[in-house]
Amino acid sequence: MDNKVLRKGLLRAWGFSAIASVSGSRVLFDTGPDPGVLSRNTSALGIDLSRISAVVISHLHGDHTGGLPATAANAPGVRTYLPEPYGVDWVRGLGLDPVVNKGTGMILPRTWIIGPINGPISEQALAIGEPGELVLLVGCSHPGTDRLAELAVREVGGVAVVAGGMHLIGAPPHRVAEVVDRLADLGVRKVYPMHCSGEAVAQYIEREYPGMLGMGGAGLRIIV
Ligand SMILES: [Zn+2]
Ligand SMILES: [Zn+2]
Repeated sequence: MDNKVLRKGLLRAWGFSAIASVSGSRVLFDTGPDPGVLSRNTSALGIDLSRISAVVISHLHGDHTGGLPATAANAPGVRTYLPEPYGVDWVRGLGLDPVVNKGTGMILPRTWIIGPINGPISEQALAIGEPGELVLLVGCSHPGTDRLAELAVREVGGVAVVAGGMHLIGAPPHRVAEVVDRLADLGVRKVYPMHCSGEAVAQYIEREYPGMLGMGGAGLRIIV
């Protein structure tokens, strides 16, 4: 789920959601703003929400948590990792099993939560795959995509791909450059700016790092 759509039959909305399928488990990372959109897009993509292993919420903003009722309806009791205690009662009330994540760690094989770090607002990311070649999913990147990627590299291993919201709409050009340059320094080879990233970041990547820019949107599949 994203602000843009890449595939026919999917809905778009302001927000973000992705599913990470790795080593036999499926982790839902964020849920978008609306249960109806989450249900519609998952069924259009042939994703069975009743079979998810866990939910990871990047941060407690409605454009990332709003789809949780659909998750609860399909996968009652599923473990739902939150970046801070705020929201625990609401999540439990939906019939999910909230877990407040305290720091970077593996939650399933080849699947790590990165963070949380403070943005302000506590935010965490999801890293999947092989350390050195990780795919890093980011929700809104309130603390900075650069800081979340640095943490992943330091605490788990190198990151090859970054996808999600980069929170750079209206950001000054020097900040856009700082984030992208840092990702490149860290060894990131592909960036899919989505959701709240803004156009300037895509333009900067295209100009300065040919081949690094990926096209994001609902329906994007990254296979590693
Ligand atoms: Zn946010
Ligand atoms: Zn957002």
